Amino acid sequence: MPVQAVVLLGVVVLSGIAIVRLASSWWKYRGRRVITCPENQRPAGVLVDSRHAAATALAGAPELRLSACSRWPERAGCGQQCLTQIAASPEDCLVRNILTKWYEGKVCASCSRPFGDIQWTGQKPALFLADKVSVDWGQVPADKLHEVLAASLPLCFACHMANTLVREHPELVVDRSASRPI
Ligand SMILES: [Zn+2]
Repeated sequence: MPVQAVVLLGVVVLSGIAIVRLASSWWKYRGRRVITCPENQRPAGVLVDSRHAAATALAGAPELRLSACSRWPERAGCGQQCLTQIAASPEDCLVRNILTKWYEGKVCASCSRPFGDIQWTGQKPALFLADKVSVDWGQVPADKLHEVLAASLPLCFACHMANTLVREHPELVVDRSASRPI
């Protein structure tokens, strides 16, 4: 094999390895997370700077730093000691994974339909709060997630839509049960 071909092959292989490392680090550290703030021992919602983690992963272990925290700007100058929790178990504190485990094996509180595999990009399930209002879980701040989940029931997307329609546009809803002969 000519030398140029060997060099080209080497460049292609190394570039491929670099792209895989970059993409896997970015994927691993993206998304909202819930950690226990070492300062007050309370939950806080954080975002890891996944682009920085990916860029530094090319040189070795990814360097972690926060890009957002629910306790900022008041605690913006903190030492970010919570990063050790994320480094130790990046998947367990990811909001999406916490929710996936919470819905696992449950049925909709309204129609009793089992949730099965959650579709995170489309018709996402919702939460039925104690005050009978349903919300998309995206509306729940990460630092309140555990608290809200403990006081909520799981609701499927269809029932969430119906609940929202009844609440926001009661004039469009016909209550057939009221017109039935007694
Ligand atoms: Zn339902």
